[in-house]
Amino acid sequence: MSERGYEVIPGDLAEALQAFLTSPPEGIPEDMIEAFSDAVRTGRCMLPPRLFFEAVEQSSVAISITDLKANILYANPAFGRVTGYAPEDVIGSNESILSDKTTPDIVYETLWGRLRQQKPWSGVLVNRRKDGTRYLADITIAPVVDAAGKTTHYLGMHRDVTAVHRLEQEVRNQKRLIESVVDVAPVVIALLDDLGHVVLSNQAYQRLAGDLRDREPAAVLLSALKASMGEAFIKGRECGRGFVDHEIRFDPELSGEPRCFACSGTWFQERNGNADNFFESREECYLLLVAKEITEFKRQQEEIRMNALRALLAEQELVQGLREALAGAAYKMQEPVNLIAAAASMQARRGSAGDDLDSMHGVLKQALDTGRQALEILRASMPGELDEPVSSVNLNQLLRDVLAISTHRMLAAGMVVDWRPEEHLRALPGRQGRLRGMFKQLIDNAMDAMDAPGWSRRELCVATKTEDGSITVIIEDSGPGIPDALRLKVFEPFFTTKGATGGRAGMGLPMVQDVVNQHAGTIEIDAETHDGCRIIIRLPLAGGSETGRMATDQNMSL
Ligand code: FAD
Repeated sequence: MSERGYEVIPGDLAEALQAFLTSPPEGIPEDMIEAFSDAVRTGRCMLPPRLFFEAVEQSSVAISITDLKANILYANPAFGRVTGYAPEDVIGSNESILSDKTTPDIVYETLWGRLRQQKPWSGVLVNRRKDGTRYLADITIAPVVDAAGKTTHYLGMHRDVTAVHRLEQEVRNQKRLIESVVDVAPVVIALLDDLGHVVLSNQAYQRLAGDLRDREPAAVLLSALKASMGEAFIKGRECGRGFVDHEIRFDPELSGEPRCFACSGTWFQERNGNADNFFESREECYLLLVAKEITEFKRQQEEIRMNALRALLAEQELVQGLREALAGAAYKMQEPVNLIAAAASMQARRGSAGDDLDSMHGVLKQALDTGRQALEILRASMPGELDEPVSSVNLNQLLRDVLAISTHRMLAAGMVVDWRPEEHLRALPGRQGRLRGMFKQLIDNAMDAMDAPGWSRRELCVATKTEDGSITVIIEDSGPGIPDALRLKVFEPFFTTKGATGGRAGMGLPMVQDVVNQHAGTIEIDAETHDGCRIIIRLPLAGGSETGRMATDQNMSL
């Protein structure tokens, strides 16, 4: 032992180390070379040589040392555990005893080629144990070079990596399987990281990206989802609660119809696999977003809804027309009945003055009774108004529907519509059917006014806005307008400016007035507008006496 407890390196070993240091094999770490250099320079070895032997013996890696023909001279206990061969079974045998004979020749040629160059070789070989079972050997073979720079032995170190390889392969296979299933799925699938970046996507996603040109589909879908789900999206992310079939709609920027998707999302945490986070586990949050396009389905649904609405409005108009006709007939009949009643009462006041007058009185009374009976029958046969329940009505949606129903006529007549809805209009409590009928009546009136022969300016503007606790709807047309003198008269029953051929019996605006009153609103024909007709309707958001029972705090945006 030396003064500091170290072994003094024997002279021949020092020489061997010196030779080793002049051309160290590739892959030897710098610090190890430095330690060796230091040992050679100072002539002191840091560790006793026996320790090296014990370390090799006790290593969990299968270690063997061979001659230049790969005949085994030494094998450690781990070699026995991995290969099944006890050291005495293999000493003197060639390493090829381990070969399964399925490793391609080119692998061995490369291995030996490297060894000839005095360089180590690492790779994977298919080996066979003593019991005939195969395993995968992750092996490093290195030449042992003497002081003269001559290879004297080979050193082999390997471990069984069959299980690791099987796991890797299984993961790879599963990944490939999942990727191919995801890729051909007819729905848009994207895996997004915490920042919304796309980590994985499928072909349907790529197709959507093509449709959206330079907009990232994930960003478009996420922003529509956040807008539509609001707080629920953030809360769901916080507690890892996903969402299922949440419908969203967005407008492609350049052109094209709005597109609708049913989106489902699953949040999951993934453990970070970096060495930095081995002991301090850090989880990263991902969102698996699946979006199924339902644009066509929605279009068909909308078409069915519009057809049903058209049928409903046509029926409502028919009933309304019938009511107007019967009310008109009753109104016209009331006049002669009143005259007969007056004549009869005059006759009665004069008293009996002969048979002729008595019989005249009888005739008048009979005519009066018949007239009154006829009036009763007319009034009784008038279809009553349906008792429609109060519900939450989105006027933007309602007006949009009415305009959509009238589109065909407007296009045919070359009318231009300027639709200006307030972006986020609150819903108001009301009777949806009556309100729809009322707006249809007003828009029909506007179209009738502009459709006059020779009238060239055909522009209709419909706007909604919220003012002083009410929703104001403005319907403005560029027709001939309503003269000042008739601004109030047009709301009287049976008054019409359309003449006998005008269709309706002048009950349209009274019906409108009636619906406005039911909703505790107001209607006016703007006195300042002389270039066309501008109708302003104000409907309170709190509802009128009839509609006040409804909750009004619902926010419906379009
Ligand atoms: P072989 O006829 O032995 O050789 C196949 C190819 O290798 C031929 O192209 C031949 O040119 C070349 N080759 C063979 N021997 C030499 C040589 N001495 N010098 C130059 N080229 C040569 N093989 C395994 O399959 N599993 C192991 O775990 C394994 N461990 C090894 C450990 C050490 C330390 C060494 C040195 C070699 C090891 N080998 C191992 C390689 C083994 O020696 C054989 O080369 C290999 O198994 C192929 O054997 P073979 O009988 O099929 O063909």
